[in-house]
Amino acid sequence: MTERTFSIIKPDGVRQGDTGKILARIEETGFKILGLRMVQMTSRHAEGFYAVHKERPFFGSLMEFMSSGPCVVMVLEKENAIEDLRKLMGATDPAKADDGTLRKDFATSIEANVIHGSDSPETAASEIPYFFTSLQIQD
Ligand code: GDP
Repeated sequence: MTERTFSIIKPDGVRQGDTGKILARIEETGFKILGLRMVQMTSRHAEGFYAVHKERPFFGSLMEFMSSGPCVVMVLEKENAIEDLRKLMGATDPAKADDGTLRKDFATSIEANVIHGSDSPETAASEIPYFFTSLQIQD
């Protein structure tokens, strides 16, 4: 079933100059890019995005990191997009990420882990409109 997911190349990925390499890996895996732009989140915007984590001890640090520079936000489409992007990303902690995953190849810490991907259809359905209007999604 063709499915849409939401992804972010986080500020570390952009800062490291890995945006093009990460986009190439995403396209090579068969994802169609339906929406793409750069955005620098305010900490308030990041707080809204990661609201589910607000009780976690690392929340303050995560907000500072996510608003520390520009990100690339994307809407991606593919069969089984949500699960397949999570596989391409690898484990949250790059030390535990499998070979061939983006986090294994580009991430430097459990926080600075270069990429976000929606973890369920419900999350994708709320994350996509948090960043994109329907006019900004090409189909
Ligand atoms: P994901 O779905 O793999 O991105 O992981 P989570 O939803 O559990 O966490 C969201 C984001 O919070 C991660 O991608 C990391 O950037 C950050 N994060 C997760 N766990 C930790 C942690 O233990 N410490 C810190 N500093 N950041 C974390």
